[in-house]
Amino acid sequence: MRVKFWGVRGSIGSPVRPEYIRSKIESILTLATPMDLQSSESIQRFLDGLSFSRHSTYGGNTTSLEIRDKEDRLILLDSGTGVRDLGNQLMEKEFGKGKGEAYWVMTHTHWDHIQGMPFFVPLFIPGNKFEFHTAMNKLEERLRYQHAFTHFPVPLDQYLAEKTFIEHAEGESFNLGPHISVTSKSMRHPGGSFSYRFSEGDKSLIFASDAEFNLDEMDNIDQYLEYFQGADVLVFDTQYTFEESLQKIDWGHSSASMATDIALRAGVKKLVMFHHDPSYDDEKLDAVFLRALKYKEMFDASGRLEIKMAYEGLEIEI
Ligand SMILES: [Zn+2]
Ligand SMILES: [Zn+2]
Repeated sequence: MRVKFWGVRGSIGSPVRPEYIRSKIESILTLATPMDLQSSESIQRFLDGLSFSRHSTYGGNTTSLEIRDKEDRLILLDSGTGVRDLGNQLMEKEFGKGKGEAYWVMTHTHWDHIQGMPFFVPLFIPGNKFEFHTAMNKLEERLRYQHAFTHFPVPLDQYLAEKTFIEHAEGESFNLGPHISVTSKSMRHPGGSFSYRFSEGDKSLIFASDAEFNLDEMDNIDQYLEYFQGADVLVFDTQYTFEESLQKIDWGHSSASMATDIALRAGVKKLVMFHHDPSYDDEKLDAVFLRALKYKEMFDASGRLEIKMAYEGLEIEI
C-alpha cells in the first residue's frame, strides 16, 4: 500500500503570499556562498542542506490523499482543494479516456474536505466509475448541497462519471478491491467525522483527522487505543500547539503532543502530523515539528516511533 498527500492544510486553503516567496528567496541568497552556486549539483546540495521551510513549502491545499493498493488500485480519501491537481494528473491516463475506476472514502463534509470535488475533472468524463464509501449519513445529499445553483453553476448530475454511494455503519468492515479492508471509527468533531483504518495483509494505515483528543478524553481513551493499536502509519490531526489545544476546547482538533502520547501508547510505528493550521507559515510548522520531535524524545524510551510532518507531495510506502 502507498499513500500520497495532495492536500495537508486544515480548515481553509492557504496559498503562500507574494511577499512570503520574496522573503524565502532573500533568506536563501543570504546563506549561499559562491561555492554553493558553482553548478546545478552544488545548488541542489545547498538546497538539500537547508531547513524544509527555507527551500520548500508544506502546501496550502486542504485534505486530499491518494492511496494505492499493491496492484495500483486507486482509493481517494476526501476531496479538499488538493484533489484538483490529483484529478488533472489522473486525466493523463485511463481517467482521461473514460476508463478510470476508483474508490472514494469520505471522512465528513466540512468545506475543507469537499471543496475540491467540483473541480475534479475525471468526474466529468462519461465511463469513469467512482464508488463512494463513508460512515457519514446522506453523503450524496450533502454533496448535492455544494452543487446547488446558488453555490455552484454545475449540478452534481452533470458530472457524467458513474457514481455509486455506499454507506457503512461505524465499525463495520468493508473491502475496497481484493486486497484492502477498511473499518471506521467515529471521532469527536463538530458535526461528526470518521477515521478509517486501511489494512492490506499485515500492514495498516489509519487516517484520523478531523479529531479532537484533549485531556477530558483520556478517561475513555482505551477504546481509541484499541482502534489505533499497532498501526504502521497513523495520519493524525495536529492542528494546534498544546497551549492552543487548552484554549480551543470543542473546536474539533488535537495537538502534536496529544498525538504523540496516543501513538506511543498504541504502539504506532509512524505518526504523520496533518491538518496544519491555516495561520501557520512554513517556519512555524518547522518549529512545531521540532517541538514534537523533542517531546517524543522525552517519552519514547525505545525510540521506535517515527514522526513525520505531512507536506504536499509526501509519499509513504507502507
Ligand atoms: Zn478539516
Ligand atoms: Zn472538519
